Amino acid sequence: MDSVIVHYQEIALKGKNRPWFVERLVANLRAALGDLEGARVRAIMGRIEVTPGPHAAWDTVRERLGRVFGVANFARARRVGRNIDELANAVIADLNGREPRSFRVTARRADKTYALTSPEIEREVGGRIKAARDWRVDLGNPELVVRIEILAREAFYSLDRHPGPGGLPSGVSGPVLCLLSGGIDSPVAAYRLMKRGCRVRFLHFHSYPILSHASRDKVRELARHLTAYQLTSRLYQVAFGDIQRQVMLSAPPPLRVVLYRRLMVRIAERLARRIRAAALVTGESVGQVASQTLENLAVIDAAVSGLPVLRPLVGSDKDEISGEAQAIGTYPISIIPDQDCCQLFTPRHPATRASRRDVEAAEQALPLQELVDGAVAAVEREEFSFPPRPNAPAAGERHAVGDEAGQPPPDASR
Ligand code: ATP
Ligand code: MG
Repeated sequence: MDSVIVHYQEIALKGKNRPWFVERLVANLRAALGDLEGARVRAIMGRIEVTPGPHAAWDTVRERLGRVFGVANFARARRVGRNIDELANAVIADLNGREPRSFRVTARRADKTYALTSPEIEREVGGRIKAARDWRVDLGNPELVVRIEILAREAFYSLDRHPGPGGLPSGVSGPVLCLLSGGIDSPVAAYRLMKRGCRVRFLHFHSYPILSHASRDKVRELARHLTAYQLTSRLYQVAFGDIQRQVMLSAPPPLRVVLYRRLMVRIAERLARRIRAAALVTGESVGQVASQTLENLAVIDAAVSGLPVLRPLVGSDKDEISGEAQAIGTYPISIIPDQDCCQLFTPRHPATRASRRDVEAAEQALPLQELVDGAVAAVEREEFSFPPRPNAPAAGERHAVGDEAGQPPPDASR
């Protein structure tokens, strides 16, 4: 079986945008298999055929396809002629070595001019398999499903189907900027938005050199890992230690956490506008920690002037989020001990209901504009790609920010 048939679901519903969605999915599949010599991907009649090439290991192909958003399911398949005898004989030959307790045939005609209807194909091929192998037919809960797809010029059949990750192809929804800490939650939040077709850029605030560079390394590892789901990523890092020190020197301890967060989102919004990201994303969830009460979230949001702040985990509890982090593979990285900037100068009893008035009064003592300008001017950028480019440094490529793909920043006039 040297083809793979990929089915998409949700994107089939998207009306006039459909051709564009499919093109995006095809491009993403090509990129995901980009290092496999001779791999081919083409859209045919409502599905996608992938030919991974002669040297590709199925485990690798399976792992890669299982991460491409927009894929509903995929199966190794054989391409054959449409003649029913040829089709049935090929299927029966491929059943050698299998002894399922029961089976069924499921046929779909993408070409409705084919001489037999789908139920007729199912009965015909099913009857021949039964005659050859004497297996029991079970239409409701068969152990083996033989899937047949009749297209205009060829037919495919497959025996083992694997679920894809679902969602929308990376790149069909706009770019967003995710505030990525080294914790468990924010990588999951990033993943959720990737699954909705957003290209997620990452922004990390670190307190190096006041603290060790552990959180920086960890976040690079998280970015590298998450890149397997969106194929290219950018990580921005901002030095936040001096800003925290200034907050600590001037603000009452209970308000500090909310002040740090408001500064973070201000810096994030400025950067987002510069890189044309359409929203900020955080890993906050209501009530998880003191800074994440509804009152505090409202005070944090008030520091953002125009962009939506998306919190995809807002209603999830920690167990659910941890389970998802395990499934996407970020959990073992997230639990590596580090020194997060939030542990620096953090009061023992942060306000759970900071009032906006008190917070704004405390901010009067801070040179907000200067702090935000300074942070954005010094942001560092790193690029990641998957599959990793042969000559790229293992963790990514570093750049100074200011050369965003040659595009002028949209807020250049402000
Ligand atoms: P996480 O597990 O994502 O760190 P958390 O439950 O520890 O979340 P907080 O530390 O209060 O919660 O952080 C809330 C959110 O603020 C994070 O999910 C993340 O989006 C953002 N954030 C916190 N610290 C940083 C940081 N150092 N750099 C970037 N974003 C951060
Ligand atoms: Mg955290």
